[in-house]
Amino acid sequence: MSAVLDAAWLRAHPLPVHPEGTDKNARGRVLLVGGSLTVPGGLVLTAEAAFRAGAGKVQIAVPEPLAVPTGMAMPESGVFALPVSDEGEIAGPGGLIDRMDGCDCLVIGPAMASNEAAAGLLAAILPAVEGLVILDAAAICGAGGLHDAVAGLPGGAILTPHVGEMAQLTGLEADDIENRREEVAADYARRLNAVLLIKGSTTVIASPDGEAVIYGGGGIGLATGGSGDVLTGIIAGLCARGLPAWEATCWGVWLHGEAGRRLTERMGLMGFLARELPAEIPALMRGI
Ligand code: AMP
Ligand code: MG
Repeated sequence: MSAVLDAAWLRAHPLPVHPEGTDKNARGRVLLVGGSLTVPGGLVLTAEAAFRAGAGKVQIAVPEPLAVPTGMAMPESGVFALPVSDEGEIAGPGGLIDRMDGCDCLVIGPAMASNEAAAGLLAAILPAVEGLVILDAAAICGAGGLHDAVAGLPGGAILTPHVGEMAQLTGLEADDIENRREEVAADYARRLNAVLLIKGSTTVIASPDGEAVIYGGGGIGLATGGSGDVLTGIIAGLCARGLPAWEATCWGVWLHGEAGRRLTERMGLMGFLARELPAEIPALMRGI
């Protein structure tokens, strides 16, 4: 039976404390890779969430036609352009591998619409990755044939699927995953040597060495477009600050859920926007 992810758990796994003289480099660099012409704004949500979780620098790599609009929407971020396919997806790594050097947390997948494009991108860049990687959305589905590459990542990995993405990653039936979430999460965290969560109205988080926690808060308002992009950004921002992958994932799930609860209290059960979640994060981090 998994432990419950609550305030007591968080107090036992505190956030890093940064000394007064800390500069932005010491609070870490996140590199976000994703986006598509179908979902052109998703990475802006992820980027803002990473900044709100305290990352010092957040850089964004998107298909070329999105580079300037993304930079205008997220003026705090550096942005660079990746090759684009006729379908509006990332067509290859371009100069990405050089940019990965020294990055504290690499995120691949948010707002990509094609699992095949994501699989191609992963095959090109995973062999060159040295640090921590977060796989989200299409990159989880695209990793279905790359289990060994994920398990062998030298800096570790975090995977953030919902049940449908978990089915694509594993080849299991969605109903089967739904019926035994904790067992499946623990099994694949071990097999993939990764922190793995299965999200939904209840989220299970499992570590590669057999720890597991469960979070059931947040509320149905979180079931809205862009919500998962925000979750991924929070986790990335915490990783950049130096929180280990396991703690960062658990903290991220809790902060995302509590942000939803706060918006529900103020605005109502549903109807708030994913873009309204990140601004709740700083005060929530202070409150624990
Ligand atoms: P995604 O499907 O990638 O946009 O992610 C949705 C996010 O919202 C995840 O963090 C889920 O755990 C959360 N979520 C979805 N539905 C619910 C629900 N009914 N209650 C609470 N949280 C939810
Ligand atoms: Mg998602």
